[in-house]
Amino acid sequence: MPASQQHDHNHCISTAMDTARTLCEQRGLRMTPVRRRVLELVWQNHKPTGAYDLLAQLSEEGFNSAPPTVYRALDFLLELGVVHRISSLNAFVGCDHPGHEHDTGFFICKECGNATELPAKEIKKLHETLVKKFSFSIETSNHELTGLCQNCKATA
Ligand SMILES: [Zn+2]
Ligand SMILES: [Zn+2]
Ligand SMILES: [Zn+2]
Repeated sequence: MPASQQHDHNHCISTAMDTARTLCEQRGLRMTPVRRRVLELVWQNHKPTGAYDLLAQLSEEGFNSAPPTVYRALDFLLELGVVHRISSLNAFVGCDHPGHEHDTGFFICKECGNATELPAKEIKKLHETLVKKFSFSIETSNHELTGLCQNCKATA
């Protein structure tokens, strides 16, 4: 579901939490309360959330919100593949389709701030085309496209 469209966001949250729980079980990892809460906070909406916002919210809720705790929780979630980092904003968003390795890319709307994950297969296609054309071998990639989402374009 593109973030720009009206949708039942509670469904996004519950799917994300269920998937994360399943991935942890499959890999024998522990979803501790702070990890779970950080994931929920990242999924509050489709806008990228900075680590400092997470720190502030966690400390309000009485968690041990020392920066290392939060960064460790984020590292765990990144490693599990349930969140992605948006480098240009130094912020985090939930993954649309966790559970397998994939290249990431995002549309970031400058109006509403939502980040929509680019379909991994389109990124793959683009990479294949570029590799073929320029015989450059790609190791890492970072596609962050800014502009107006469908919704904001319609109301502009
Ligand atoms: Zn949603
Ligand atoms: Zn993803
Ligand atoms: Zn927008």
